[in-house]
Amino acid sequence: MLQLFIPLGFLGIVYRQIKYALADMDLVFKLLERAPEITDAPAAPPLVLHKGAVRFEQVGFHYQPERVILQAVDFRIDPGEKVAVVGHSGAGKSTLARLLFRFYDPQQGRILIDDQDIRGVLQDSLRAAIGVVPQDTVLFNDSIRYNIAYGRTDATEDEVRRAAELAHIADFIARLPDGWDTVVGERGLKLSGGEKQRVAIARAILKRPRILIFDEATSSLDSRTEQAIQQTLAEVSEDHTTLVIAHRLSTVVDADRILVMDQGRVIEQGAHRSLLSQGGTYAAMWELQQREREADRQEAAS
Ligand code: ATP
Repeated sequence: MLQLFIPLGFLGIVYRQIKYALADMDLVFKLLERAPEITDAPAAPPLVLHKGAVRFEQVGFHYQPERVILQAVDFRIDPGEKVAVVGHSGAGKSTLARLLFRFYDPQQGRILIDDQDIRGVLQDSLRAAIGVVPQDTVLFNDSIRYNIAYGRTDATEDEVRRAAELAHIADFIARLPDGWDTVVGERGLKLSGGEKQRVAIARAILKRPRILIFDEATSSLDSRTEQAIQQTLAEVSEDHTTLVIAHRLSTVVDADRILVMDQGRVIEQGAHRSLLSQGGTYAAMWELQQREREADRQEAAS
């Protein structure tokens, strides 16, 4: 019954919010998983961005007090570096990204960007500095141009095209029946998982963030598409401070540093070769994945 008393104008606002939320992780969160405790401090200044250095200092976090999710997590991502996080499902990898985007605040420690505690700066300025390529990109039922330009609504036509080129989706768009005007989404052309990720990468590039969070798709892309996306990411992340939430170890081989997480702790940290030579958890995970790949290859060949 309650719904009947909601004014129609309000429903219109909700409808518009939901439509936009579908392509915006921030809004999705606001609508579905609102964390009311996240507010701007009174007279909080905007984040002053220099080179985009990220620092997690002894961060501890729980969603509910009875279940600790992160414990004393301490790492840095220097400007322009790419740091990848690996670990079992539920280890707390995506939580790191949520904290950096300030969907939640840690209960212990702090997170700094260019030496400023992110709790003390305007949320809008923080989120403007961070581009997110989510696991699964939801598209509007609108043109592919609109879907990419959504990354920054005041972008020029040239900037939108350039972002598409950098994300390696421009040639694909040129071949579409109506080119840039082709409608995509549920009621339009259905894009593949890889194409959707490229749209998300183009959106993120257009936003020109200093910091990039790439949440790798868990759904399986075929291995050629996966490699192509990784190549694109490697190119794009060169100019950004990048945090990759990785579900496949093949993605992380070229990272400057890999954080291995287990039950909310960083248990190993280093570059691929150094972690392999330590012969610890990462090395075991790598060996297991190599064996699985070999088994898949043999099965495909038989
Ligand atoms: P995956 O590889 O499966 O994506 P992950 O390492 O990214 O996993 P997180 O998403 O960070 O893991 O989740 C860590 C733990 O926190 C999980 O056990 C999860 O169930 C729990 N969790 C995540 N979000 C919430 C939430 N909003 N409320 C309560 N618990 C949550």
